[in-house]
Amino acid sequence: MALLQSEVVPKNSGAAFEMTRGQRLRIAGKSIVDFVAFNLHDLNERFDQARTKTNQVKIFISTGEVDINPKKPEEIPDHGCWENLSEAVKPWNISPDDVPSPFNIFQCMRIDPETGMMYDTMIRPKDEAHVDFRAEMDCLVAVSACPESGRGQAIRVEIFDD
Ligand SMILES: [Zn+2]
Repeated sequence: MALLQSEVVPKNSGAAFEMTRGQRLRIAGKSIVDFVAFNLHDLNERFDQARTKTNQVKIFISTGEVDINPKKPEEIPDHGCWENLSEAVKPWNISPDDVPSPFNIFQCMRIDPETGMMYDTMIRPKDEAHVDFRAEMDCLVAVSACPESGRGQAIRVEIFDD
């Protein structure tokens, strides 16, 4: 597995990468990453985590969550993942309205089994963790290093040949 590309995505910013089938994408970090993917040859075809969840009829959550206090308005940045992702895919003429609901990597939520209410948690990887994706088709992928109300950090994106 040879490293083809390695980029640091600064906190609360986005980046997009073209991939060919068979390549691997590694997303590494210690805070939340918002991830979207498109068919490179038909940008109207895109990965949608909400539909995938419904389709697969499952959701993964982990144990040991801790609640945090609600965010104060002054702690919310003037831009976030949607703007970061929209900006990242702009060179491919994808309109902001066509940026799908992202897959949130390294995000741990507590879900109340009775009410279905979702609570943010402070659970993040202690050391840099990573996930790898293999492109099953040529695709365009984009990431946003989530601001997480000021707690977000820079992330690393690497592309490998298979
Ligand atoms: Zn985000």
